[in-house]
Amino acid sequence: MKNKGLLVVISGPAGTGKGTVVKELAKDENIRVSVSATTRAPRAGEVGGVHYHYLSREQFKDMIAEDGFLEYAEYCGNFYGSPKKQADEWKQEGKDVILEIEVQGCMQVKQNDPECISIFIMPPSVEELESRLRGRGTETEEVILKRLERAKEEMKLSKDYDYIVVNDTVEECVKDIAAVLRAEKLRAKRFA
Ligand code: 5GP
Repeated sequence: MKNKGLLVVISGPAGTGKGTVVKELAKDENIRVSVSATTRAPRAGEVGGVHYHYLSREQFKDMIAEDGFLEYAEYCGNFYGSPKKQADEWKQEGKDVILEIEVQGCMQVKQNDPECISIFIMPPSVEELESRLRGRGTETEEVILKRLERAKEEMKLSKDYDYIVVNDTVEECVKDIAAVLRAEKLRAKRFA
């Protein structure tokens, strides 16, 4: 029996380590990670088409007009969106597709596709989150403070997700998410 792949939304405050967790999950050959589009400038070391598709605001608006996004949202002054076409193709091929996106985007996906699975990755504490954000050394103080405020708001919305997983260690967090996906695949309704 071959099922269509799952659409899995993973959110969590910036600095919670979700990028590392998603990278680990992506080692599974049955999982694909959607490459988002953004109007934010690339950070040092980021590569177009790998980390994001970097678009101008005009290009981003054109893609909205063409109904090219599963969801999109504004986050700290920049637009971010999940391209629809690639995700649909992967799902048809039976691959599980991960969208690593913020909370507004997750709520849009949930509305459009009630079958999607939403997972919120929680930092062990706000203090730990702050130290991880500062440790990155890629952002200005202003951006760090903006992101911390946003993180606190996002954590309040974690109750609207299907699952909450605490990222104490990457290994445990990955194991927990893999267990969620495995159980979801075995739901009787997915065999219909
Ligand atoms: P960053 O600028 O740190 O790469 O990402 C900022 C936030 O935007 C993160 O919470 C990330 O998960 C979220 N994000 C990345 N891509 C998308 C997307 O396609 N849609 C939405 N809604 N959020 C995204």
